[in-house]
Amino acid sequence: MLSFEAARAKVIEVVSAHAAAAAETLDLVSDSPSAFGRVLAKNIIADRNYPPFDRSVRDGYALRSADAPEPGARLRLIGESRAGVGFSGTVEPGQCVRIFTGAPLPRGANTVVMQEYARSEGDSVFFEQAARPGQHLVPAGAEARVGEVMLPRGSRLSYAELAMAAEVGCARLEVYRRPRVAILATGDELVPVSATPGTFQIRDSNNVSLSAQVALAGGAPAVIGTAPDETTKLRAQIEQGLQYDLLILSGGVSAGSYDFVEQVLRELGTEIFFESVAVRPGRPTVFGRCRGKPVFGLPGNPVSTMVTFELFVVPALDLLSGSSPRPLPLFKARLAHPVNEKGGVAHFLPARVTWPAAPAGAEPVAQVEALLWEGSGDIGAVVRANCFLLVHASRLRLEAGEWADVLPRRASF
Ligand code: AMP
Ligand code: MG
Repeated sequence: MLSFEAARAKVIEVVSAHAAAAAETLDLVSDSPSAFGRVLAKNIIADRNYPPFDRSVRDGYALRSADAPEPGARLRLIGESRAGVGFSGTVEPGQCVRIFTGAPLPRGANTVVMQEYARSEGDSVFFEQAARPGQHLVPAGAEARVGEVMLPRGSRLSYAELAMAAEVGCARLEVYRRPRVAILATGDELVPVSATPGTFQIRDSNNVSLSAQVALAGGAPAVIGTAPDETTKLRAQIEQGLQYDLLILSGGVSAGSYDFVEQVLRELGTEIFFESVAVRPGRPTVFGRCRGKPVFGLPGNPVSTMVTFELFVVPALDLLSGSSPRPLPLFKARLAHPVNEKGGVAHFLPARVTWPAAPAGAEPVAQVEALLWEGSGDIGAVVRANCFLLVHASRLRLEAGEWADVLPRRASF
Protein backbone atom coordinates (compact mmCIF):
# COMPACT_ATOMS: atom_id res chain seq x y z
CA MET A 1 0.00 0.00 0.00
CA LEU A 2 1.23 3.52 -0.80
CA SER A 3 2.46 5.71 2.04
CA PHE A 4 0.63 9.01 2.33
CA GLU A 5 3.78 10.77 1.11
CA ALA A 6 3.94 8.58 -2.00
CA ALA A 7 0.22 9.07 -2.63
CA ARG A 8 0.67 12.85 -2.37
CA ALA A 9 3.62 12.68 -4.75
CA LYS A 10 1.46 10.70 -7.19
CA VAL A 11 -1.28 13.35 -7.07
CA ILE A 12 1.31 16.04 -7.75
CA GLU A 13 2.85 14.09 -10.62
CA VAL A 14 -0.53 13.45 -12.28
CA VAL A 15 -2.04 16.91 -11.80
CA SER A 16 1.19 18.67 -12.86
CA ALA A 17 0.37 17.52 -16.38
CA HIS A 18 -2.94 19.43 -16.27
CA ALA A 19 -3.18 23.04 -17.38
CA ALA A 20 -4.14 25.63 -14.79
CA ALA A 21 -7.54 27.28 -15.10
CA ALA A 22 -7.76 30.12 -17.66
CA ALA A 23 -6.53 33.58 -16.73
CA GLU A 24 -8.67 36.68 -16.28
CA THR A 25 -8.05 40.30 -15.36
CA LEU A 26 -9.21 41.78 -12.07
CA ASP A 27 -9.11 45.31 -10.78
CA LEU A 28 -6.91 45.37 -7.69
CA VAL A 29 -9.02 47.94 -5.88
CA SER A 30 -12.62 47.62 -7.08
CA ASP A 31 -12.54 43.81 -7.29
CA SER A 32 -10.99 43.54 -3.82
CA PRO A 33 -11.28 41.24 -1.97
CA SER A 34 -12.00 38.85 -4.86
CA ALA A 35 -8.34 39.05 -5.87
CA PHE A 36 -7.51 37.76 -2.40
CA GLY A 37 -6.34 34.13 -2.60
CA ARG A 38 -5.96 34.17 -6.39
CA VAL A 39 -2.76 33.14 -8.16
CA LEU A 40 -0.87 35.50 -10.45
CA ALA A 41 -0.77 34.58 -14.13
CA LYS A 42 1.88 37.21 -14.91
CA ASN A 43 4.93 38.60 -13.11
CA ILE A 44 4.53 41.88 -11.26
CA ILE A 45 7.46 44.22 -11.91
CA ALA A 46 8.78 47.21 -9.95
CA ASP A 47 7.85 50.37 -11.91
CA ARG A 48 10.63 52.37 -10.20
CA ASN A 49 13.16 52.06 -7.39
CA TYR A 50 11.82 51.38 -3.88
CA PRO A 51 12.04 53.51 -1.96
CA PRO A 52 12.11 56.00 -4.84
CA PHE A 53 14.23 58.44 -2.76
CA ASP A 54 16.40 58.22 0.36
CA ARG A 55 13.61 57.99 2.95
CA SER A 56 13.77 59.10 6.55
CA VAL A 57 12.31 56.59 9.00
CA ARG A 58 12.34 59.02 11.97
CA ASP A 59 11.22 62.49 12.92
CA GLY A 60 14.34 64.61 13.52
CA TYR A 61 16.95 66.57 11.59
CA ALA A 62 18.80 65.88 8.36
CA LEU A 63 22.42 66.93 8.29
CA ARG A 64 25.92 66.11 7.08
CA SER A 65 27.46 63.54 9.41
CA ALA A 66 30.84 65.33 9.17
CA ASP A 67 29.20 68.27 10.98
CA ALA A 68 28.33 66.17 14.07
CA PRO A 69 31.12 63.62 14.51
CA GLU A 70 30.58 63.79 18.27
CA PRO A 71 27.91 65.08 20.66
CA GLY A 72 27.64 68.85 21.08
CA ALA A 73 27.37 70.13 17.49
CA ARG A 74 25.26 73.23 16.80
CA LEU A 75 23.90 73.70 13.24
CA ARG A 76 21.80 76.35 11.51
CA LEU A 77 18.22 75.33 10.72
CA ILE A 78 17.40 76.26 7.08
CA GLY A 79 14.01 74.62 6.42
CA GLU A 80 12.01 71.42 6.60
CA SER A 81 11.35 68.27 4.57
CA ARG A 82 8.00 66.61 5.08
CA ALA A 83 6.42 63.51 3.52
CA GLY A 84 5.14 64.13 0.02
CA VAL A 85 6.80 67.57 -0.25
CA GLY A 86 10.53 67.38 0.52
CA PHE A 87 13.00 70.30 0.64
CA SER A 88 14.10 72.00 -2.55
CA GLY A 89 17.43 73.41 -1.36
CA THR A 90 20.77 71.85 -0.43
CA VAL A 91 22.15 71.28 3.05
CA GLU A 92 25.56 72.99 3.16
CA PRO A 93 28.22 72.46 5.84
CA GLY A 94 27.04 73.86 9.17
CA GLN A 95 23.35 73.54 8.25
CA CYS A 96 20.49 71.16 9.04
CA VAL A 97 16.87 70.63 7.95
CA ARG A 98 13.89 69.55 10.04
CA ILE A 99 12.73 66.17 8.65
CA PHE A 100 9.75 63.87 9.28
CA THR A 101 9.10 60.16 8.84
CA GLY A 102 8.54 59.26 5.20
CA ALA A 103 10.14 62.46 3.90
CA PRO A 104 13.01 62.52 1.39
CA LEU A 105 16.50 63.28 2.64
CA PRO A 106 17.48 66.74 1.31
CA ARG A 107 20.37 67.08 -1.10
CA GLY A 108 23.69 67.48 0.71
CA ALA A 109 22.57 65.63 3.87
CA ASN A 110 23.61 62.03 4.51
CA THR A 111 22.10 61.24 7.89
CA VAL A 112 19.23 61.83 10.31
CA VAL A 113 19.41 62.52 14.04
CA MET A 114 16.25 61.74 15.98
CA GLN A 115 14.44 64.72 17.50
CA GLU A 116 14.79 63.09 20.95
CA TYR A 117 18.57 63.85 20.73
CA ALA A 118 18.28 67.40 19.42
CA ARG A 119 17.17 70.74 20.92
CA SER A 120 15.99 73.59 18.77
CA GLU A 121 17.30 76.97 19.99
CA GLY A 122 16.03 79.87 17.83
CA ASP A 123 17.35 79.39 14.29
CA SER A 124 19.88 76.74 15.32
CA VAL A 125 19.74 73.20 16.62
CA PHE A 126 21.92 71.65 19.32
CA PHE A 127 22.72 67.93 18.90
CA GLU A 128 23.29 65.81 22.00
CA GLN A 129 24.28 62.84 19.91
CA ALA A 130 26.89 62.16 17.24
CA ALA A 131 25.55 61.39 13.75
CA ARG A 132 26.66 58.21 12.00
CA PRO A 133 26.42 58.46 8.20
CA GLY A 134 23.25 56.85 6.80
CA GLN A 135 21.42 56.42 10.08
CA HIS A 136 17.59 56.33 10.21
CA LEU A 137 17.42 56.21 6.41
CA VAL A 138 16.38 53.65 3.84
CA PRO A 139 18.46 54.43 0.75
CA ALA A 140 16.74 54.76 -2.63
CA GLY A 141 16.44 51.37 -4.32
CA ALA A 142 17.31 49.39 -1.17
CA GLU A 143 14.02 47.47 -1.20
CA ALA A 144 13.74 46.98 -4.96
CA ARG A 145 15.20 48.16 -8.25
CA VAL A 146 13.13 49.33 -11.19
CA GLY A 147 12.34 46.36 -13.45
CA GLU A 148 12.85 43.81 -10.70
CA VAL A 149 10.30 40.97 -10.46
CA MET A 150 8.46 41.69 -7.22
CA LEU A 151 5.96 38.83 -7.47
CA PRO A 152 6.54 35.96 -9.87
CA ARG A 153 3.74 34.34 -11.81
CA GLY A 154 2.32 31.57 -9.62
CA SER A 155 2.37 33.69 -6.44
CA ARG A 156 -0.75 33.38 -4.33
CA LEU A 157 -2.15 36.80 -3.45
CA SER A 158 -2.56 37.27 0.25
CA TYR A 159 -2.57 40.64 1.99
CA ALA A 160 1.16 41.30 1.65
CA GLU A 161 1.17 40.39 -2.05
CA LEU A 162 -1.86 42.65 -2.64
CA ALA A 163 -0.04 45.49 -0.85
CA MET A 164 2.97 44.89 -3.10
CA ALA A 165 0.77 45.04 -6.23
CA ALA A 166 -0.68 48.31 -4.91
CA GLU A 167 2.76 49.75 -4.11
CA VAL A 168 4.07 49.21 -7.63
CA GLY A 169 0.88 50.50 -9.25
CA CYS A 170 -0.39 47.22 -10.68
CA ALA A 171 -4.06 48.29 -10.81
CA ARG A 172 -5.06 45.45 -13.15
CA LEU A 173 -4.11 41.97 -12.05
CA GLU A 174 -3.81 38.98 -14.34
CA VAL A 175 -4.83 36.01 -12.26
CA TYR A 176 -6.00 32.47 -12.86
CA ARG A 177 -9.66 31.69 -12.40
CA ARG A 178 -10.40 29.60 -9.36
CA PRO A 179 -10.64 25.92 -10.32
CA ARG A 180 -14.29 24.86 -10.24
CA VAL A 181 -14.65 21.88 -7.96
CA ALA A 182 -17.65 19.57 -8.06
CA ILE A 183 -18.56 18.01 -4.71
CA LEU A 184 -20.74 14.93 -4.50
CA ALA A 185 -21.62 13.05 -1.31
CA THR A 186 -22.83 9.46 -1.60
CA GLY A 187 -24.84 7.28 0.75
CA ASP A 188 -28.46 6.10 1.10
CA GLU A 189 -28.44 7.21 4.72
CA LEU A 190 -27.92 10.88 3.88
CA VAL A 191 -30.58 13.54 4.09
CA PRO A 192 -30.21 17.28 3.44
CA VAL A 193 -29.19 19.43 6.39
CA SER A 194 -32.64 21.05 6.57
CA ALA A 195 -34.49 17.72 6.66
CA THR A 196 -35.46 15.80 9.79
CA PRO A 197 -33.55 12.53 9.57
CA GLY A 198 -35.34 9.24 10.15
CA THR A 199 -34.05 7.06 12.96
CA PHE A 200 -31.33 5.47 10.82
CA GLN A 201 -30.62 8.46 8.62
CA ILE A 202 -27.99 11.16 9.11
CA ARG A 203 -27.55 14.66 7.74
CA ASP A 204 -24.99 15.16 5.00
CA SER A 205 -22.12 17.14 6.50
CA ASN A 206 -19.38 16.26 4.01
CA ASN A 207 -20.72 18.46 1.22
CA VAL A 208 -20.67 21.34 3.68
CA SER A 209 -17.19 20.71 5.11
CA LEU A 210 -15.73 20.02 1.66
CA SER A 211 -17.17 23.27 0.29
CA ALA A 212 -15.42 25.16 3.06
CA GLN A 213 -12.16 23.27 2.56
CA VAL A 214 -12.26 23.90 -1.20
CA ALA A 215 -12.89 27.60 -0.64
CA LEU A 216 -10.09 27.80 1.96
CA ALA A 217 -7.71 26.10 -0.46
CA GLY A 218 -8.54 28.58 -3.25
CA GLY A 219 -11.11 26.67 -5.33
CA ALA A 220 -14.70 27.50 -6.29
CA PRO A 221 -16.93 24.80 -4.78
CA ALA A 222 -20.08 23.58 -6.52
CA VAL A 223 -22.17 21.00 -4.70
CA ILE A 224 -23.71 18.52 -7.13
CA GLY A 225 -25.87 16.95 -4.45
CA THR A 226 -26.03 13.58 -2.76
CA ALA A 227 -25.99 10.33 -4.70
CA PRO A 228 -27.65 7.10 -3.59
CA ASP A 229 -25.81 3.79 -3.22
CA GLU A 230 -27.07 2.70 -6.62
CA THR A 231 -25.09 2.79 -9.82
CA THR A 232 -27.44 4.44 -12.35
CA LYS A 233 -28.11 7.67 -10.49
CA LEU A 234 -24.54 7.72 -9.13
CA ARG A 235 -23.14 7.40 -12.67
CA ALA A 236 -25.29 10.29 -13.91
CA GLN A 237 -24.19 12.52 -11.05
CA ILE A 238 -20.53 11.63 -11.52
CA GLU A 239 -20.88 12.53 -15.20
CA GLN A 240 -22.35 15.84 -14.16
CA GLY A 241 -19.39 16.39 -11.82
CA LEU A 242 -16.95 15.70 -14.63
CA GLN A 243 -18.05 18.97 -16.28
CA TYR A 244 -15.98 20.77 -13.63
CA ASP A 245 -12.19 21.08 -13.29
CA LEU A 246 -12.01 18.59 -10.43
CA LEU A 247 -14.48 16.16 -8.87
CA ILE A 248 -14.52 15.15 -5.21
CA LEU A 249 -16.77 12.34 -4.07
CA SER A 250 -17.20 11.29 -0.48
CA GLY A 251 -18.33 7.91 0.79
CA GLY A 252 -18.85 4.63 -1.02
CA VAL A 253 -15.16 3.79 -1.50
CA SER A 254 -14.78 1.00 1.08
CA ALA A 255 -15.22 -2.69 0.30
CA GLY A 256 -18.85 -2.96 1.47
CA SER A 257 -21.66 -4.38 -0.67
CA TYR A 258 -23.08 -0.87 -1.17
CA ASP A 259 -19.84 0.92 -2.03
CA PHE A 260 -20.11 1.62 -5.76
CA VAL A 261 -17.95 4.68 -6.34
CA GLU A 262 -14.83 2.93 -7.58
CA GLN A 263 -16.87 0.50 -9.70
CA VAL A 264 -18.78 3.30 -11.43
CA LEU A 265 -15.60 5.32 -11.92
CA ARG A 266 -14.03 2.29 -13.60
CA GLU A 267 -17.10 1.75 -15.78
CA LEU A 268 -16.72 5.36 -16.91
CA GLY A 269 -13.17 4.55 -18.00
CA THR A 270 -11.35 6.19 -15.09
CA GLU A 271 -7.64 5.56 -14.88
CA ILE A 272 -7.16 4.79 -11.18
CA PHE A 273 -3.77 5.78 -9.73
CA PHE A 274 -4.42 4.52 -6.22
CA GLU A 275 -7.33 3.09 -4.28
CA SER A 276 -5.85 2.79 -0.82
CA VAL A 277 -3.25 4.64 1.20
CA ALA A 278 -1.43 3.58 4.37
CA VAL A 279 -3.04 6.29 6.44
CA ARG A 280 -5.67 6.38 9.17
CA PRO A 281 -8.13 7.91 8.89
CA GLY A 282 -8.37 7.71 5.11
CA ARG A 283 -7.22 4.26 4.05
CA PRO A 284 -9.68 3.65 1.14
CA THR A 285 -8.94 6.96 -0.63
CA VAL A 286 -9.29 6.70 -4.42
CA PHE A 287 -7.55 8.96 -6.91
CA GLY A 288 -7.94 8.77 -10.65
CA ARG A 289 -8.48 10.66 -13.88
CA CYS A 290 -11.67 10.43 -15.88
CA ARG A 291 -12.34 12.24 -19.16
CA GLY A 292 -9.28 14.37 -18.49
CA LYS A 293 -10.42 15.46 -15.03
CA PRO A 294 -8.78 14.54 -11.72
CA VAL A 295 -11.23 12.68 -9.49
CA PHE A 296 -10.99 11.92 -5.78
CA GLY A 297 -13.12 9.36 -3.98
CA LEU A 298 -12.65 10.24 -0.33
CA PRO A 299 -13.86 7.94 2.44
CA GLY A 300 -17.20 9.10 3.85
CA ASN A 301 -16.46 9.25 7.55
CA PRO A 302 -16.38 13.00 8.15
CA VAL A 303 -12.93 13.09 9.78
CA SER A 304 -11.51 10.86 7.03
CA THR A 305 -12.95 13.20 4.43
CA MET A 306 -11.39 16.23 6.13
CA VAL A 307 -7.95 14.68 6.61
CA THR A 308 -7.69 13.16 3.12
CA PHE A 309 -8.74 16.48 1.58
CA GLU A 310 -5.83 18.20 3.33
CA LEU A 311 -3.34 15.50 2.41
CA PHE A 312 -4.27 14.80 -1.20
CA VAL A 313 -6.71 17.35 -2.64
CA VAL A 314 -4.96 20.57 -1.57
CA PRO A 315 -1.86 19.99 -3.74
CA ALA A 316 -4.10 19.16 -6.72
CA LEU A 317 -6.04 22.39 -6.21
CA ASP A 318 -2.81 24.36 -5.94
CA LEU A 319 -1.66 23.04 -9.31
CA LEU A 320 -5.02 23.70 -10.98
CA SER A 321 -4.92 27.22 -9.50
CA GLY A 322 -1.63 27.94 -11.30
CA SER A 323 0.63 27.79 -8.26
CA SER A 324 3.02 25.11 -7.07
CA PRO A 325 1.78 22.60 -4.52
CA ARG A 326 2.26 24.02 -1.05
CA PRO A 327 4.19 21.68 1.22
CA LEU A 328 2.41 19.94 4.06
CA PRO A 329 2.97 22.50 6.86
CA LEU A 330 4.25 20.10 9.50
CA PHE A 331 5.96 21.43 12.61
CA LYS A 332 7.37 19.82 15.74
CA ALA A 333 5.82 19.80 19.20
CA ARG A 334 6.65 17.91 22.36
CA LEU A 335 4.35 15.02 23.13
CA ALA A 336 2.41 15.45 26.36
CA HIS A 337 1.90 11.68 26.70
CA PRO A 338 3.15 8.40 25.23
CA VAL A 339 1.63 7.19 21.96
CA ASN A 340 1.10 3.61 20.90
CA GLU A 341 -0.68 3.22 17.56
CA LYS A 342 -1.12 0.08 15.48
CA GLY A 343 -1.76 -1.15 12.02
CA GLY A 344 1.43 -0.28 10.16
CA VAL A 345 -0.10 2.93 8.78
CA ALA A 346 0.49 6.63 9.48
CA HIS A 347 -2.04 8.14 11.88
CA PHE A 348 -3.41 11.67 11.92
CA LEU A 349 -4.97 12.06 15.37
CA PRO A 350 -7.12 15.06 16.30
CA ALA A 351 -4.94 16.96 18.76
CA ARG A 352 -4.35 20.25 20.48
CA VAL A 353 -1.12 22.14 20.44
CA THR A 354 -0.47 24.66 23.22
CA TRP A 355 2.47 26.73 24.38
CA PRO A 356 2.47 26.21 28.15
CA ALA A 357 4.35 28.67 30.35
CA ALA A 358 7.96 27.51 30.67
CA PRO A 359 9.84 27.18 33.96
CA ALA A 360 11.96 30.24 34.83
CA GLY A 361 14.84 30.69 32.42
CA ALA A 362 13.47 28.23 29.84
CA GLU A 363 11.86 29.00 26.49
CA PRO A 364 8.22 27.95 26.04
CA VAL A 365 7.90 25.13 23.50
CA ALA A 366 4.91 23.78 21.61
CA GLN A 367 3.29 20.85 23.34
CA VAL A 368 0.82 18.49 21.67
CA GLU A 369 -1.85 16.32 23.18
CA ALA A 370 -4.02 13.87 21.23
CA LEU A 371 -7.70 14.22 22.10
CA LEU A 372 -10.02 11.44 23.13
CA TRP A 373 -12.20 10.54 20.18
CA GLU A 374 -14.64 7.96 18.94
CA GLY A 375 -12.87 7.46 15.64
CA SER A 376 -13.33 8.98 12.22
CA GLY A 377 -17.04 9.75 12.58
CA ASP A 378 -16.35 12.08 15.50
CA ILE A 379 -16.66 15.60 14.10
CA GLY A 380 -16.59 17.03 17.64
CA ALA A 381 -13.02 15.80 18.08
CA VAL A 382 -11.90 17.90 15.12
CA VAL A 383 -13.91 20.85 16.43
CA ARG A 384 -11.93 20.61 19.69
CA ALA A 385 -8.66 20.04 17.84
CA ASN A 386 -6.45 22.74 16.40
CA CYS A 387 -4.12 20.26 14.70
CA PHE A 388 -3.53 16.61 13.86
CA LEU A 389 -0.76 14.69 15.57
CA LEU A 390 1.11 12.69 12.94
CA VAL A 391 2.28 9.27 14.10
CA HIS A 392 4.45 7.87 11.33
CA ALA A 393 4.00 4.27 10.19
CA SER A 394 7.72 3.74 10.86
CA ARG A 395 7.47 4.90 14.53
CA LEU A 396 4.10 3.93 16.01
CA ARG A 397 5.38 4.09 19.62
CA LEU A 398 6.49 7.40 21.02
CA GLU A 399 7.41 8.42 24.56
CA ALA A 400 6.12 11.43 26.46
CA GLY A 401 8.44 14.39 25.84
CA GLU A 402 9.53 13.26 22.37
CA TRP A 403 9.28 15.68 19.47
CA ALA A 404 6.41 14.74 17.18
CA ASP A 405 5.12 16.06 13.86
CA VAL A 406 2.01 18.20 13.95
CA LEU A 407 -0.21 19.24 11.03
CA PRO A 408 -2.10 22.46 11.84
CA ARG A 409 -5.80 22.46 11.15
CA ARG A 410 -6.13 25.01 8.37
CA ALA A 411 -7.19 28.47 9.58
CA SER A 412 -6.93 27.59 13.28
CA PHE A 413 -3.74 29.54 13.95
P1 AMP B 1 -18.74 5.21 3.67
O1 AMP B 1 -17.40 5.80 3.36
O2 AMP B 1 -19.75 5.45 2.61
O3 AMP B 1 -18.60 3.75 4.02
O4 AMP B 1 -19.25 5.95 4.96
C1 AMP B 1 -18.56 5.82 6.18
C2 AMP B 1 -19.30 6.52 7.28
O5 AMP B 1 -19.36 7.91 7.00
C3 AMP B 1 -20.72 6.07 7.48
O6 AMP B 1 -20.99 6.05 8.86
C4 AMP B 1 -21.52 7.15 6.80
O7 AMP B 1 -22.82 7.27 7.31
C5 AMP B 1 -20.69 8.38 7.05
N1 AMP B 1 -20.90 9.35 5.99
C6 AMP B 1 -20.77 9.09 4.67
N2 AMP B 1 -21.04 10.18 3.94
C7 AMP B 1 -21.35 11.16 4.82
C8 AMP B 1 -21.72 12.52 4.67
N3 AMP B 1 -21.84 13.09 3.47
N4 AMP B 1 -21.98 13.24 5.78
C9 AMP B 1 -21.85 12.67 7.00
N5 AMP B 1 -21.48 11.40 7.20
C10 AMP B 1 -21.24 10.63 6.13
MG1 MG C 1 -21.64 4.86 2.22
